[in-house]
Amino acid sequence: MLDHIRILEAADFAARKHTDQRRLDSMETPYINHPLGVAWILAKEGGVDDTDTLIGAILHDTVEDTDTTFQEIEHHFGPKLRGIVNEVSDDKSLPYEERKRLQIVHAQTCSREAKLIKLADKLYNLRDLERETPQGWTESRKAKYFVWSSNVVAKLKGTNKPLEEELNKMFHRNIPGFKHNKKS
Ligand code: ZN
Repeated sequence: MLDHIRILEAADFAARKHTDQRRLDSMETPYINHPLGVAWILAKEGGVDDTDTLIGAILHDTVEDTDTTFQEIEHHFGPKLRGIVNEVSDDKSLPYEERKRLQIVHAQTCSREAKLIKLADKLYNLRDLERETPQGWTESRKAKYFVWSSNVVAKLKGTNKPLEEELNKMFHRNIPGFKHNKKS
């Protein structure tokens, strides 16, 4: 059964952590809209009703993008959530291209919780990208991001049908010549 108290604790925690951050859209949307939206995609479109997965979605960018530490995550939400957040956090000490490459490498072997969060995170970000080009982004960076996302999602195949179908439609619309490689 869903633990709504823990889920709300995570929402409150993430909102405080992201309080000064904005998304890169022209509206400068509060950053917290993103992790909450990712959790909502999982629940609503992915049919996910697992508390840890939803909390992981809400917390997924706290360590990567704020001063939050893994110890803090463990203290408030336990070792399992620490592990999930670790799996969905890029190591910011590495160069951008390397971080993006490692996401493709690690996607296949991560936990089911992390795979679900990665799918919903990509879907949320790509919907934003389809709507408008973020501040400071070129069209070619946007095109590359779609291709890179499709490479990560290919490694997550078999995780959640509705989310994967939405993502594949997205890739068909935005990547010229995109082929949905069927499971072999
Ligand atoms: Zn994210």
